[in-house]
Amino acid sequence: MKKILVPKNIGFCFGVRRTVEMAERLLKKYGEVYSIGDIVHNPLVVEKLKSQGLKVVNSTDAIRGKRFIIRSHGIGPDVLGCIQKKGVYVFDATCPLVKRIQSLIRKLDNQKFFIIIIGDEKHPEVIGLKGYGRHTLVFGGSGFSKKIKKLERVAVIGQTTLSFEEYIKKVRYLIGLSIAREMVVYNTICKVTGERQKEAVDISKNVDTVFVLGGRNSSNTAKLYRTVKRYNRNAFYIERLEDIKDVPLSKVKSIGLISGTSTSEEFIAEIKRYIKKIGYMEVQYNDRKA
Ligand code: SF4
Repeated sequence: MKKILVPKNIGFCFGVRRTVEMAERLLKKYGEVYSIGDIVHNPLVVEKLKSQGLKVVNSTDAIRGKRFIIRSHGIGPDVLGCIQKKGVYVFDATCPLVKRIQSLIRKLDNQKFFIIIIGDEKHPEVIGLKGYGRHTLVFGGSGFSKKIKKLERVAVIGQTTLSFEEYIKKVRYLIGLSIAREMVVYNTICKVTGERQKEAVDISKNVDTVFVLGGRNSSNTAKLYRTVKRYNRNAFYIERLEDIKDVPLSKVKSIGLISGTSTSEEFIAEIKRYIKKIGYMEVQYNDRKA
């Protein structure tokens, strides 16, 4: 039997679902709502919201309407202040986990901590987080962007979508640098992405081919793809249905379906329909283990 193996955790995570549902409600009610940058990192989802009236702009100057929604990754307090000064109504769809880190940075800042954020300094979540403390610095892929002198109190936090192992590795490296008299480390990694990584590894080891579904601009989907590729050479990054049409499947008996946290159920259903039409039967990942 040719089969598609589908894990329990697939489709939107709770943070992205909350953002998309809030945007849909607002668009239904007001017809036009602005966002700075993509509200979630998936072009298909953003295109659909745009067709319902979402206006995606790159700066506060470009906001011409009266309503604004904050994307799932959050925004910095400086940008928020500019929007509010324009007299625009702001609806906050920041993921609650990201929101919690923003508040944590504020609290630590009041306690005179220097804050080191481990993550990608170009990612909107990290750009936003930086603004919540007066003394923050990002420890990215190529280390610190500037030289730092010996510090008194340092608090370390991580971008939510890092893998826990990656985060700990970098924390250990920072401890080894002996840059502070006191260093407090917070676990701010989102469990959802960790669970998906684990399932992805397991599925990848047990199928002929893996389809990783999600936007190319999604950091967690890209990470899933890199992980999967280590365990299964026949892994394909699928952003749109067209991407699977060229994949050679004649000798493939089993396909694993994995998705990033901003991939919609609608898209997953479309992919499943296509694969089932060419003779595969859906099997739940848990059923296979039983
Ligand atoms: S992956 Fe985690 S942190 Fe990111 S939006 Fe989803 S729930 Fe929130």
